[in-house]
Amino acid sequence: MAEFDLIARIRQRVAQRDDVVLGIGDDAALLRVPAGRELVVAMDTLNAGVHFPNETSPADIGWKALAVNLSDLAAMAAEPAWCTLSLSLPQADADWLDAFLDGFLGLAALHGVALVGGDTTRGPLSVCVTVHGFVAPGQARRRDAARVGDTVWVSGTLGDAAGGLAQWREGQAADLYLRERLDRPMPRLALRPALRHAHACIDVSDGLLADLGHVCAASGVGVQLDIDALPASVALRANFDADARRRLQATGGDDYELCFTAPASAREAIEREAAIAGVAATAIGRVVAGEGVQALGADGSPWVAERKGYDHFGV
Ligand code: ADP
Ligand code: MG
Repeated sequence: MAEFDLIARIRQRVAQRDDVVLGIGDDAALLRVPAGRELVVAMDTLNAGVHFPNETSPADIGWKALAVNLSDLAAMAAEPAWCTLSLSLPQADADWLDAFLDGFLGLAALHGVALVGGDTTRGPLSVCVTVHGFVAPGQARRRDAARVGDTVWVSGTLGDAAGGLAQWREGQAADLYLRERLDRPMPRLALRPALRHAHACIDVSDGLLADLGHVCAASGVGVQLDIDALPASVALRANFDADARRRLQATGGDDYELCFTAPASAREAIEREAAIAGVAATAIGRVVAGEGVQALGADGSPWVAERKGYDHFGV
């Protein structure tokens, strides 16, 4: 297959949106941003062997490439609209492309996102995606907006993807739920109504402590984290002891959950909106004067991960 055939194969499967004036096929796409809205843009790349195990299925690669990008829009409280896709492929394999598109366009359809352009080249397997969405002026949830006294919240459960990756690395039989969480993260776009009550928000991609640290630095505040309050899935509890679990939850990457801060008075509203969205939201700490994230056990003593690799996260 030639480059043109690959692009034609993509083009024939993409969904339409009214605000796409011109999609795949010309030198550039023409898109209509709704009047009075800000355009929100994010980009993330997945490289084989770095961002996913080499034997990951093409459908899972396609899903994850879009999911990690949509997670960034979710963290800004933006509504997604369009995406572009740069594909670097070792060979022009129609079956691989079709399976990749099953995952990629399957997730795009779930959120009404149109693929409007991209680039196709030969090279080591690499997938680069941009996503575009909208937000009302001033309504984006930024990292620099946490305030002293806020409650810190996290969606879903933490550590599952890192647990699945750890099992894979150690050659263990993978827990299917954990592996699914690694390969098919769910961007938490459903939490946008809950985020109306939030101040700051970030998506957890590099590990909770690292990402919360970014919020602290940007906002000029500190966070006290209740290490025992971090939400854990049944599968994580079944497969890892308490020490390993805390480490995975606090420092494991690839969660793609949302971590946000909100005034204490917003607790009920957040719980209600999260319940409507069908996504768990758990209070895990508080914003304090100072700097950096301090993780505390139930008895108030500092929690420090023993294993090497922890330093990597800079806490
Ligand atoms: P150009 O040489 O002008 O950059 P290309 O041949 O790269 O054009 O692309 C032709 C059209 O196909 C463009 O509209 C481009 O956005 C689209 N396209 C190319 N690769 C992809 C892809 N992987 N996914 C979606 N659209 C693509
Ligand atoms: Mg091009």
